[in-house]
Amino acid sequence: MNRILIAEDESRIVAFLEKGLRANGFTTTAVNDGNQAARIASSEDFDLMILDLGLPGKDGLVVLEDIRGRGEKLPIIILTARDDIHDKVTGLESGADDYLTKPFRFEELLARIRVRLRESRQPSGGSGMTIKVGDVVLDLRTRKVAVNGRHVELSAREFTLAETFLLHPGQVMTREHLLSRVWGYDYDPGSNIVDVYVGYLRKKIDSQLIETVRGMGYRLRV
Ligand code: CA
Repeated sequence: MNRILIAEDESRIVAFLEKGLRANGFTTTAVNDGNQAARIASSEDFDLMILDLGLPGKDGLVVLEDIRGRGEKLPIIILTARDDIHDKVTGLESGADDYLTKPFRFEELLARIRVRLRESRQPSGGSGMTIKVGDVVLDLRTRKVAVNGRHVELSAREFTLAETFLLHPGQVMTREHLLSRVWGYDYDPGSNIVDVYVGYLRKKIDSQLIETVRGMGYRLRV
């Protein structure tokens, strides 16, 4: 179970994040003020923190410096409404692992969270950043795909869908599971979007890659 600390003062965004993260199997704790955020980040055991820069009490950048000043390795993704390159640079220099500018798409945040969690578990880096099944290699850092050494362009959703299959080779994945993993809460359970995207992957990567399991879903051929 991955525990995510959310430091954000806009309740609408907190609700959006908590709903999406919980639908994807994370547990969440939310705080709406910078002082509280700095305190709880050290006092409780979290796997990752989502940190808004514009927080009351203590600015997000100061929170970040506090946490890193204590030598905490907690992966931190900063959110900023300020489309200001200076803030981003300062944030990354202060030890943030990544940042997103508001408004952002949930799937984009989710993808980055997964990369950060994987990185923090495999500090050696290198091979931990790629998934290879057969001729297909996904680079989780650059989010690029190579098939037989040939580069293939995938959209963010296509990439997350491909990643889901490659992480579970040979396993039957139901449409519902794929919907919740790739589209988060933001989907209509009756939609055929999974089938459409599997079609895209077959076209872009390999027509034989993903087989249909009648009445159940899909499976990555191994
Ligand atoms: Ca804010």
